[in-house]
Amino acid sequence: MSFDADTKMQFLYALRSKGVTDTRVLTAMEQVDRAAFVRGIFADRAYEDMPLPIACGQTISQPSVVGLMTQALQVNPRDKVLEIGTGSGYQAAILSKLARRVYTIDRYRSLAEKARQIFADQQIANIITFTADGSHGLPDQAPFDRILLTAAAEDPPGPLLAQLRVGGIMVLPVGQSDAVQSLIRVTRLDTGYEYDELRAVRFVPLLEGLGQE
Ligand code: SAH
Repeated sequence: MSFDADTKMQFLYALRSKGVTDTRVLTAMEQVDRAAFVRGIFADRAYEDMPLPIACGQTISQPSVVGLMTQALQVNPRDKVLEIGTGSGYQAAILSKLARRVYTIDRYRSLAEKARQIFADQQIANIITFTADGSHGLPDQAPFDRILLTAAAEDPPGPLLAQLRVGGIMVLPVGQSDAVQSLIRVTRLDTGYEYDELRAVRFVPLLEGLGQE
């Protein structure tokens, strides 16, 4: 199966039916072939709206969840975006079509390296990939216009709140890893932070330190 015109039409239809309606987000998702990020035995399920296993016991999120999170992040073309949880690299690739530059971090070196290779193969040049514990953010590159976490924290990590510029938006799942989590949007105002609860989600936990391969 390839990402041909018919497959794209069905893929976009499924996204719209789940509430992904922002045309810039839909266009970005049309430009990135998800199969390139799920090689191996699951590649032929790449265009179905389901999460799939990737290396290191992690998962590539469901396309509609990627779409809804990206939509909630309200990315502008000049934005500098930080993503915590590179995983397969798919979400970062979508963000790269909408933003000026994307910094993405994973605690597994092998995932970060594989994603970096796929970005090069796909000729995506505005993503910078790091291996680190992303809960500390990237103080040297801060502040960020947008921050997205694709692993669930119990609370928004303090260093990430601090690295969000005033007027910036952070989207993240919060809650215990074995329970239903809430996707929340944090907006940094002059006077503090505003929190909106968006929907129920399920993500792998945000863990401390580097992953043991
Ligand atoms: N965005 C990914 C899916 C992420 S799965 C995609 O599009 O495929 C969640 C990822 O978060 C996993 O790869 C996991 O290793 C990573 N992760 C968990 N805790 C982390 C931390 N503290 N810092 C960086 N990455 C972390």
